[in-house]
Amino acid sequence: MENSKTTPRVLDGIAIAAVIKTEVAEQVASAKASGYIPGLAVILVGEVPASQIYVRSKVKTCAELGIYSEMHTPPATVTTEDLLALVDSLNGRDDIDGILIQLPLPAHVDTARLLEAVLPTKDVDGFHPINAGRLLSGAPENEVLAPCTPAGILEILRRSEIPIAGQNAVVVGRSNIVGKPVASMLINASATVTVCHSKTHDLPRVTREADILVAAIGRAGFVRRDMVKPGATIIDVGINRLTGEAEFAQFFPPTHPEHAKRREGFAKRGSTVIGDVDPAAFAVAGAYTPVPGGVGALTIAMLMSNTVKAAKMRRR
Ligand code: NAP
Repeated sequence: MENSKTTPRVLDGIAIAAVIKTEVAEQVASAKASGYIPGLAVILVGEVPASQIYVRSKVKTCAELGIYSEMHTPPATVTTEDLLALVDSLNGRDDIDGILIQLPLPAHVDTARLLEAVLPTKDVDGFHPINAGRLLSGAPENEVLAPCTPAGILEILRRSEIPIAGQNAVVVGRSNIVGKPVASMLINASATVTVCHSKTHDLPRVTREADILVAAIGRAGFVRRDMVKPGATIIDVGINRLTGEAEFAQFFPPTHPEHAKRREGFAKRGSTVIGDVDPAAFAVAGAYTPVPGGVGALTIAMLMSNTVKAAKMRRR
Protein backbone atom coordinates (compact mmCIF):
# COMPACT_ATOMS: atom_id res chain seq x y z
CA MET A 1 0.00 0.00 0.00
CA GLU A 2 1.29 3.43 -0.95
CA ASN A 3 1.16 5.99 1.81
CA SER A 4 -0.02 9.57 1.68
CA LYS A 5 3.56 10.85 1.28
CA THR A 6 4.00 9.11 -2.10
CA THR A 7 3.66 11.45 -5.06
CA PRO A 8 0.44 10.42 -6.79
CA ARG A 9 0.68 9.17 -10.33
CA VAL A 10 -1.15 11.19 -12.95
CA LEU A 11 -3.09 8.96 -15.36
CA ASP A 12 -2.64 10.86 -18.60
CA GLY A 13 -5.81 10.47 -20.67
CA ILE A 14 -4.40 12.42 -23.60
CA ALA A 15 -1.44 10.05 -23.99
CA ILE A 16 -3.65 6.95 -23.64
CA ALA A 17 -6.15 8.35 -26.18
CA ALA A 18 -3.29 8.94 -28.65
CA VAL A 19 -2.23 5.28 -28.39
CA ILE A 20 -5.82 4.08 -28.88
CA LYS A 21 -6.25 6.35 -31.93
CA THR A 22 -3.06 4.95 -33.46
CA GLU A 23 -4.40 1.42 -32.93
CA VAL A 24 -7.76 2.38 -34.46
CA ALA A 25 -6.02 3.91 -37.51
CA GLU A 26 -4.18 0.58 -37.98
CA GLN A 27 -7.48 -1.31 -37.76
CA VAL A 28 -9.02 1.06 -40.33
CA ALA A 29 -6.08 0.39 -42.66
CA SER A 30 -6.58 -3.36 -42.37
CA ALA A 31 -10.36 -2.96 -42.91
CA LYS A 32 -9.58 -1.04 -46.10
CA ALA A 33 -7.18 -3.79 -47.18
CA SER A 34 -9.99 -6.30 -46.75
CA GLY A 35 -12.41 -4.21 -48.83
CA TYR A 36 -14.45 -1.89 -46.61
CA ILE A 37 -14.19 1.50 -44.93
CA PRO A 38 -15.77 1.86 -41.47
CA GLY A 39 -18.38 4.63 -41.59
CA LEU A 40 -20.01 6.84 -38.95
CA ALA A 41 -23.16 8.94 -39.37
CA VAL A 42 -23.71 11.75 -36.87
CA ILE A 43 -27.10 13.34 -36.35
CA LEU A 44 -26.95 16.84 -34.89
CA VAL A 45 -30.33 18.47 -34.35
CA GLY A 46 -30.61 22.27 -34.14
CA GLU A 47 -27.86 24.67 -33.19
CA VAL A 48 -26.65 23.91 -29.65
CA PRO A 49 -23.12 25.43 -29.56
CA ALA A 50 -21.61 22.82 -27.20
CA SER A 51 -23.04 19.98 -29.33
CA GLN A 52 -21.69 21.61 -32.50
CA ILE A 53 -18.20 21.70 -30.94
CA TYR A 54 -18.38 18.02 -29.87
CA VAL A 55 -19.67 16.89 -33.26
CA ARG A 56 -17.03 18.84 -35.16
CA SER A 57 -14.25 17.18 -33.19
CA LYS A 58 -15.80 13.72 -33.71
CA VAL A 59 -15.97 14.28 -37.49
CA LYS A 60 -12.42 15.69 -37.52
CA THR A 61 -11.09 12.65 -35.63
CA CYS A 62 -12.83 10.31 -38.12
CA ALA A 63 -10.96 12.05 -40.94
CA GLU A 64 -7.64 11.77 -39.09
CA LEU A 65 -8.08 8.02 -38.60
CA GLY A 66 -9.41 7.26 -42.10
CA ILE A 67 -13.01 6.56 -40.97
CA TYR A 68 -15.75 7.72 -43.38
CA SER A 69 -18.15 10.14 -41.70
CA GLU A 70 -21.19 12.15 -42.64
CA MET A 71 -23.25 14.68 -40.75
CA HIS A 72 -27.00 15.13 -40.77
CA THR A 73 -28.15 18.47 -39.37
CA PRO A 74 -31.93 18.75 -39.27
CA PRO A 75 -33.35 21.94 -37.75
CA ALA A 76 -34.55 22.12 -34.10
CA THR A 77 -38.14 21.99 -35.40
CA VAL A 78 -37.68 18.45 -36.83
CA THR A 79 -40.28 15.90 -35.71
CA THR A 80 -39.62 12.56 -34.01
CA GLU A 81 -41.14 10.86 -37.08
CA ASP A 82 -38.72 12.59 -39.46
CA LEU A 83 -35.78 11.61 -37.25
CA LEU A 84 -37.05 8.02 -37.07
CA ALA A 85 -37.15 7.96 -40.87
CA LEU A 86 -33.54 9.25 -41.01
CA VAL A 87 -32.37 6.60 -38.51
CA ASP A 88 -34.22 3.95 -40.50
CA SER A 89 -32.45 4.94 -43.73
CA LEU A 90 -29.05 4.90 -41.96
CA ASN A 91 -29.87 1.50 -40.40
CA GLY A 92 -30.38 0.15 -43.91
CA ARG A 93 -27.13 1.42 -45.43
CA ASP A 94 -24.19 -0.97 -45.69
CA ASP A 95 -21.60 1.85 -45.75
CA ILE A 96 -22.72 3.13 -42.33
CA ASP A 97 -21.44 1.12 -39.36
CA GLY A 98 -22.17 3.55 -36.55
CA ILE A 99 -25.04 5.97 -35.91
CA LEU A 100 -24.55 8.64 -33.29
CA ILE A 101 -27.39 10.89 -32.19
CA GLN A 102 -25.85 13.87 -30.43
CA LEU A 103 -27.69 14.59 -27.17
CA PRO A 104 -29.48 16.55 -25.84
CA LEU A 105 -32.32 16.63 -28.37
CA PRO A 106 -35.02 19.32 -28.34
CA ALA A 107 -37.67 18.70 -25.64
CA HIS A 108 -40.42 17.80 -28.16
CA VAL A 109 -38.36 14.91 -29.60
CA ASP A 110 -38.88 11.44 -28.07
CA THR A 111 -35.23 10.71 -27.23
CA ALA A 112 -35.79 7.19 -25.83
CA ARG A 113 -37.78 6.11 -28.91
CA LEU A 114 -35.07 7.44 -31.18
CA LEU A 115 -32.19 5.78 -29.31
CA GLU A 116 -34.09 2.48 -29.41
CA ALA A 117 -34.64 2.86 -33.16
CA VAL A 118 -30.90 2.66 -33.86
CA LEU A 119 -29.91 -0.89 -34.77
CA PRO A 120 -28.04 -2.32 -31.74
CA THR A 121 -25.25 -3.38 -34.12
CA LYS A 122 -24.78 0.28 -35.18
CA ASP A 123 -25.25 1.77 -31.69
CA VAL A 124 -21.71 3.13 -31.25
CA ASP A 125 -22.77 5.21 -28.22
CA GLY A 126 -23.78 1.99 -26.45
CA PHE A 127 -27.07 3.52 -25.22
CA HIS A 128 -29.47 0.99 -26.73
CA PRO A 129 -31.20 -1.16 -24.06
CA ILE A 130 -30.01 -4.30 -25.90
CA ASN A 131 -26.38 -3.22 -25.52
CA ALA A 132 -26.95 -2.06 -21.92
CA GLY A 133 -28.47 -5.48 -21.19
CA ARG A 134 -25.67 -7.38 -22.91
CA LEU A 135 -23.12 -5.40 -20.87
CA LEU A 136 -25.00 -6.23 -17.68
CA SER A 137 -25.11 -9.93 -18.64
CA GLY A 138 -21.35 -9.98 -18.93
CA ALA A 139 -21.07 -10.40 -22.72
CA PRO A 140 -17.40 -10.57 -23.78
CA GLU A 141 -16.07 -7.02 -24.32
CA ASN A 142 -15.16 -7.65 -27.95
CA GLU A 143 -18.78 -8.59 -28.64
CA VAL A 144 -20.61 -5.65 -27.08
CA LEU A 145 -20.76 -1.93 -27.86
CA ALA A 146 -20.24 -0.29 -24.46
CA PRO A 147 -20.80 3.44 -23.80
CA CYS A 148 -17.69 5.46 -24.64
CA THR A 149 -16.94 7.19 -21.32
CA PRO A 150 -17.14 4.02 -19.18
CA ALA A 151 -15.18 2.09 -21.82
CA GLY A 152 -12.54 4.85 -21.67
CA ILE A 153 -12.33 4.50 -17.89
CA LEU A 154 -11.61 0.77 -18.18
CA GLU A 155 -8.95 1.51 -20.82
CA ILE A 156 -7.27 3.99 -18.47
CA LEU A 157 -7.24 1.49 -15.60
CA ARG A 158 -5.98 -1.43 -17.70
CA ARG A 159 -3.38 0.42 -19.71
CA SER A 160 -2.07 2.01 -16.49
CA GLU A 161 -1.89 -1.48 -14.96
CA ILE A 162 -4.11 -0.55 -12.03
CA PRO A 163 -5.34 -3.83 -10.50
CA ILE A 164 -9.14 -4.25 -10.81
CA ALA A 165 -9.94 -7.87 -9.91
CA GLY A 166 -10.70 -8.22 -6.22
CA GLN A 167 -10.41 -4.47 -5.57
CA ASN A 168 -13.11 -2.42 -3.87
CA ALA A 169 -14.50 -0.04 -6.48
CA VAL A 170 -16.92 2.68 -5.43
CA VAL A 171 -18.85 4.52 -8.15
CA VAL A 172 -20.51 7.76 -7.11
CA GLY A 173 -23.33 8.43 -9.59
CA ARG A 174 -25.87 6.06 -11.17
CA SER A 175 -26.60 7.64 -14.55
CA ASN A 176 -27.29 5.43 -17.56
CA ILE A 177 -24.41 6.97 -19.47
CA VAL A 178 -21.66 6.75 -16.83
CA GLY A 179 -22.41 5.38 -13.35
CA LYS A 180 -24.40 2.23 -14.17
CA PRO A 181 -22.37 1.06 -17.18
CA VAL A 182 -19.01 1.66 -15.48
CA ALA A 183 -20.28 -0.29 -12.46
CA SER A 184 -21.25 -3.18 -14.80
CA MET A 185 -17.86 -3.11 -16.49
CA LEU A 186 -16.04 -3.11 -13.14
CA ILE A 187 -18.17 -6.06 -11.96
CA ASN A 188 -17.35 -7.87 -15.22
CA ALA A 189 -13.67 -7.17 -14.48
CA SER A 190 -14.13 -8.83 -11.05
CA ALA A 191 -14.02 -5.75 -8.82
CA THR A 192 -16.25 -5.63 -5.75
CA VAL A 193 -18.48 -2.71 -6.68
CA THR A 194 -20.58 -0.31 -4.62
CA VAL A 195 -22.73 2.28 -6.41
CA CYS A 196 -23.63 5.47 -4.52
CA HIS A 197 -26.04 8.32 -5.32
CA SER A 198 -27.77 11.26 -3.73
CA LYS A 199 -29.68 9.07 -1.24
CA THR A 200 -26.60 7.19 0.03
CA HIS A 201 -26.17 7.50 3.80
CA ASP A 202 -22.77 8.58 5.09
CA LEU A 203 -21.13 8.75 1.67
CA PRO A 204 -17.61 9.53 3.04
CA ARG A 205 -17.66 6.26 5.01
CA VAL A 206 -18.37 4.35 1.79
CA THR A 207 -15.91 6.22 -0.44
CA ARG A 208 -13.12 5.76 2.11
CA GLU A 209 -13.37 2.00 1.46
CA ALA A 210 -12.58 2.45 -2.24
CA ASP A 211 -9.38 1.18 -3.82
CA ILE A 212 -10.81 2.60 -7.06
CA LEU A 213 -13.07 5.63 -6.65
CA VAL A 214 -15.08 6.76 -9.69
CA ALA A 215 -16.70 10.18 -9.30
CA ALA A 216 -19.48 10.84 -11.85
CA ILE A 217 -21.67 13.32 -10.03
CA GLY A 218 -21.68 16.64 -11.86
CA ARG A 219 -20.76 18.79 -8.82
CA ALA A 220 -17.51 20.73 -8.78
CA GLY A 221 -14.94 19.46 -6.28
CA PHE A 222 -17.57 17.38 -4.43
CA VAL A 223 -15.20 14.57 -3.34
CA ARG A 224 -13.07 15.99 -0.55
CA ARG A 225 -9.72 14.81 0.72
CA ASP A 226 -11.26 13.16 3.80
CA MET A 227 -13.44 10.98 1.52
CA VAL A 228 -10.45 9.24 -0.10
CA LYS A 229 -8.52 6.24 1.18
CA PRO A 230 -4.77 6.99 1.06
CA GLY A 231 -3.25 5.36 -2.01
CA ALA A 232 -6.58 4.91 -3.84
CA THR A 233 -6.97 5.38 -7.58
CA ILE A 234 -9.34 8.26 -8.32
CA ILE A 235 -11.16 8.41 -11.64
CA ASP A 236 -12.67 11.87 -11.94
CA VAL A 237 -15.36 11.87 -14.63
CA GLY A 238 -16.84 15.27 -13.82
CA ILE A 239 -16.61 18.25 -16.14
CA ASN A 240 -17.70 21.42 -14.37
CA ARG A 241 -17.01 25.03 -15.19
CA LEU A 242 -15.94 27.29 -12.31
CA THR A 243 -16.85 30.90 -12.92
CA GLY A 244 -16.86 32.44 -9.42
CA GLU A 245 -13.81 34.07 -7.87
CA ALA A 246 -14.60 32.56 -4.45
CA GLU A 247 -14.81 29.03 -5.89
CA PHE A 248 -11.60 29.60 -7.82
CA ALA A 249 -9.84 30.67 -4.63
CA GLN A 250 -11.26 27.65 -2.76
CA PHE A 251 -10.03 25.04 -5.25
CA PHE A 252 -6.91 26.73 -6.65
CA PRO A 253 -5.34 28.70 -3.78
CA PRO A 254 -1.90 30.28 -4.34
CA THR A 255 -0.30 27.16 -2.82
CA HIS A 256 -1.84 24.90 -5.50
CA PRO A 257 0.78 23.78 -8.07
CA GLU A 258 -1.52 24.73 -10.96
CA HIS A 259 -2.50 28.09 -9.46
CA ALA A 260 -0.58 30.31 -11.91
CA LYS A 261 -1.68 28.40 -15.02
CA ARG A 262 -5.29 28.23 -13.87
CA ARG A 263 -5.28 31.89 -12.90
CA GLU A 264 -4.08 32.88 -16.37
CA GLY A 265 -6.83 30.84 -18.10
CA PHE A 266 -9.45 32.09 -15.65
CA ALA A 267 -8.48 35.69 -16.36
CA LYS A 268 -8.62 35.09 -20.12
CA ARG A 269 -11.84 33.04 -20.35
CA GLY A 270 -13.65 33.90 -17.12
CA SER A 271 -13.79 30.23 -16.17
CA THR A 272 -11.75 27.11 -15.49
CA VAL A 273 -12.73 23.45 -15.78
CA ILE A 274 -12.73 21.24 -12.70
CA GLY A 275 -13.91 17.69 -12.05
CA ASP A 276 -16.10 16.23 -9.32
CA VAL A 277 -13.05 15.82 -7.08
CA ASP A 278 -11.50 18.61 -5.04
CA PRO A 279 -7.94 18.95 -6.44
CA ALA A 280 -6.68 18.81 -2.83
CA ALA A 281 -7.98 15.22 -2.62
CA PHE A 282 -5.62 14.06 -5.38
CA ALA A 283 -2.71 14.55 -3.00
CA VAL A 284 -3.71 11.49 -0.92
CA ALA A 285 -4.38 9.29 -3.96
CA GLY A 286 -2.01 6.69 -5.39
CA ALA A 287 -3.06 7.66 -8.92
CA TYR A 288 -5.68 9.94 -10.44
CA THR A 289 -7.10 11.23 -13.70
CA PRO A 290 -6.74 15.01 -13.99
CA VAL A 291 -9.45 17.34 -15.29
CA PRO A 292 -8.97 18.35 -18.02
CA GLY A 293 -6.75 15.71 -19.66
CA GLY A 294 -8.12 12.57 -18.02
CA VAL A 295 -11.32 10.64 -18.75
CA GLY A 296 -12.71 13.30 -21.12
CA ALA A 297 -9.76 12.82 -23.45
CA LEU A 298 -10.73 9.17 -24.03
CA THR A 299 -14.35 9.61 -25.05
CA ILE A 300 -13.83 10.40 -28.75
CA ALA A 301 -11.09 7.77 -29.06
CA MET A 302 -13.55 5.17 -27.73
CA LEU A 303 -16.23 6.33 -30.19
CA MET A 304 -13.75 5.73 -33.01
CA SER A 305 -12.85 2.36 -31.51
CA ASN A 306 -16.55 1.42 -31.26
CA THR A 307 -17.13 2.41 -34.90
CA VAL A 308 -14.36 0.09 -36.10
CA LYS A 309 -15.59 -2.64 -33.72
CA ALA A 310 -19.18 -2.27 -35.04
CA ALA A 311 -17.89 -2.49 -38.62
CA LYS A 312 -16.01 -5.72 -37.80
CA MET A 313 -18.88 -7.26 -35.82
CA ARG A 314 -21.38 -6.68 -38.67
CA ARG A 315 -19.08 -8.41 -41.15
CA ARG A 316 -18.36 -11.50 -39.09
P1 NAP B 1 -26.11 12.82 -14.02
O1 NAP B 1 -26.95 12.06 -15.00
O2 NAP B 1 -26.57 14.17 -13.57
O3 NAP B 1 -25.94 11.89 -12.72
C1 NAP B 1 -25.32 12.38 -11.58
C2 NAP B 1 -25.33 11.31 -10.51
O4 NAP B 1 -24.68 11.86 -9.36
C3 NAP B 1 -26.73 10.87 -10.10
O5 NAP B 1 -26.79 9.47 -10.00
C4 NAP B 1 -26.92 11.52 -8.73
O6 NAP B 1 -27.69 10.78 -7.81
C5 NAP B 1 -25.49 11.61 -8.22
N1 NAP B 1 -25.39 12.66 -7.23
C6 NAP B 1 -25.77 13.96 -7.37
N2 NAP B 1 -25.56 14.62 -6.21
C7 NAP B 1 -25.06 13.72 -5.34
C8 NAP B 1 -24.66 13.79 -3.99
N3 NAP B 1 -24.76 14.91 -3.29
N4 NAP B 1 -24.17 12.68 -3.40
C9 NAP B 1 -24.08 11.52 -4.08
N5 NAP B 1 -24.45 11.39 -5.38
C10 NAP B 1 -24.94 12.48 -5.99
O7 NAP B 1 -24.63 13.01 -14.53
P2 NAP B 1 -23.76 12.17 -15.59
O8 NAP B 1 -24.32 12.36 -16.94
O9 NAP B 1 -23.51 10.79 -15.09
O10 NAP B 1 -22.39 12.98 -15.52
C11 NAP B 1 -21.65 13.09 -14.32
C12 NAP B 1 -20.48 14.03 -14.54
O11 NAP B 1 -19.64 13.47 -15.55
C13 NAP B 1 -20.86 15.41 -15.07
O12 NAP B 1 -19.93 16.36 -14.55
C14 NAP B 1 -20.66 15.30 -16.57
O13 NAP B 1 -20.35 16.53 -17.18
C15 NAP B 1 -19.48 14.38 -16.62
N6 NAP B 1 -19.37 13.59 -17.86
C16 NAP B 1 -18.15 13.53 -18.42
C17 NAP B 1 -17.95 12.77 -19.55
C18 NAP B 1 -16.57 12.70 -20.14
O14 NAP B 1 -16.41 12.40 -21.29
N7 NAP B 1 -15.55 12.93 -19.32
C19 NAP B 1 -19.01 12.08 -20.13
C20 NAP B 1 -20.25 12.13 -19.51
C21 NAP B 1 -20.41 12.88 -18.35
P3 NAP B 1 -29.27 10.51 -8.03
O15 NAP B 1 -29.34 9.46 -9.09
O16 NAP B 1 -29.72 10.03 -6.70
O17 NAP B 1 -29.87 11.81 -8.45
